[in-house]
Amino acid sequence: PISACDLIEPHRICVCVRKRPLNKQEVNRKEIDVVTVPGKGALMVHEPKHKVDLTKYLDNQVFHFDYSFDETATNDLVYKFTAKPLVQSIFEGAMATCFAYGQTGSGKTHTMGGDFTGRQQNSAKGVYAFAAQDVFTFLNHRRYAHLDLSAYVSFFEIYNGKVYDLLNKKAKLRVLEDDRQQVQVVGLEEVYVSTAEEVIKMIEMGSACRTSGQTSANANSSRSHAILQIVLRRSDRASTLYGKFSLVDLAGNERGTDVSSNDRSTLVETAEINRSLLALKECIRSLGMNSDHIPFRMSTLTKVLRDSFIGEKSRTCMIAMVSPGMTSCEYTMNTLRYADRVK
Ligand code: ADP
Ligand code: MG
Repeated sequence: PISACDLIEPHRICVCVRKRPLNKQEVNRKEIDVVTVPGKGALMVHEPKHKVDLTKYLDNQVFHFDYSFDETATNDLVYKFTAKPLVQSIFEGAMATCFAYGQTGSGKTHTMGGDFTGRQQNSAKGVYAFAAQDVFTFLNHRRYAHLDLSAYVSFFEIYNGKVYDLLNKKAKLRVLEDDRQQVQVVGLEEVYVSTAEEVIKMIEMGSACRTSGQTSANANSSRSHAILQIVLRRSDRASTLYGKFSLVDLAGNERGTDVSSNDRSTLVETAEINRSLLALKECIRSLGMNSDHIPFRMSTLTKVLRDSFIGEKSRTCMIAMVSPGMTSCEYTMNTLRYADRVK
């Protein structure tokens, strides 16, 4: 299995786009599919210029990314080209991060988490589960045996700039930066894991914790960032950090354009999400330009991911998710412009 992982990407930042299929409701209300994937890395949006006669006035916009996945792509395939090379990189000592970005309903959680209820079936697995499997394939491989590595899992959520531990009853945690600029989430649970099944169990536990107590599970989770971290430590060297993989299911980006709300708490939420997504964009851009100044202090999200933005061995992959429907066009364009700026 190790040879299949040798598709390591040559660059530090990989930006991909994934289009989900029209769902039943969209088909029922005769939603028009305005997104096509014409070829490797390309994605085209047929933006309606004319609100009444939609078929006649199409303005095509083409974007280019490292990879583009159409509605027939499986989670397995998406994983192979996005997160899989990053799993290998953490065994070379990298700090890797994979982001799922996009509007609510575009497929972020589907891609990252998959469908936990059907976890026995490969088709229902998400990036989390595939990554967990590969981590243990590598861990048990003789190529890495001499490193004497152990794996640990953390799972937390950032909501309104505050960190909540999903593996410890949603405890609210503080983020501290020491005088060597090391950022710590104080008291964050880090659970030792020895099989992929144990990782999945932690994710299930954490995901349940994430949504409980809310009237609308999706409404809540779409306003927070969920961060799963798989950490490798040297068992023989006082558990020093060796590599880390952060998998991030970002908050829905659509709130950036929602200014109609008068609800104060919604406005605060919106401002916070905007701030963190802007900060993320700036940090990835700085990383891409090999800049010495990474503005990670701009948000809690970028603060806790600081070690992923610093140093030679950082690897980043962003998967931008888009909905195919015409009514999502504006959000789709926002997502694509963001992804375009990041690369
Ligand atoms: P998000 O997390 O971005 O808000 P979800 O992952 O919850 O979006 O996806 C919204 C709905 O669309 C879910 O019912 C999900 O199962 C479905 N979906 C998303 N992406 C796909 C896909 N590639 N193929 C099939 N169904 C999908
Ligand atoms: Mg989601």
